[in-house]
Amino acid sequence: MLAATATVIVATGQSPANIIILSLTVVSVSFVGLGAYRILSPLVLPEVDAPMTIAGRTRVALEREKTLVLRSIKELEFDFAMGKIAKADFDEMSGRLRARALGLMRQLDEGGGYREQIQKEVEQRLAGAQGAQSAQGACDCGTQNDPDARFCKNCGAKL
Ligand SMILES: [Zn+2]
Repeated sequence: MLAATATVIVATGQSPANIIILSLTVVSVSFVGLGAYRILSPLVLPEVDAPMTIAGRTRVALEREKTLVLRSIKELEFDFAMGKIAKADFDEMSGRLRARALGLMRQLDEGGGYREQIQKEVEQRLAGAQGAQSAQGACDCGTQNDPDARFCKNCGAKL
């Protein structure tokens, strides 16, 4: 808008149609600039949900690699059955591939374990919040009053 105003000031003396066209140009240029900023800002500014995206991509990459490794094992077994590779080579290569597959599966399992951990923590916190709420109305005489009660409904003590 500042640029548009400046353009109008600079363009005084010209016909109103020209001023309008110039203003529209400036406005559309600023819209393009805004769009470019929106596109580029995620690349520059730290994104809040970026770790989630990275975790998701990592998981997909791990699963893809696991599939590839398992396929390689099958191909290797097929080649060995066809007599294309020696027993020693087969043992060495399949051992390496199996170790890799196990490592990938463990990584994928840990990803699931992490999710369970978060869920457990959320449940614990929710339970903790409920506990704090119920402790609010508890009296020394053992009566559970409403959380917002100021006096015990049993013994009349101040809570
Ligand atoms: Zn009481």
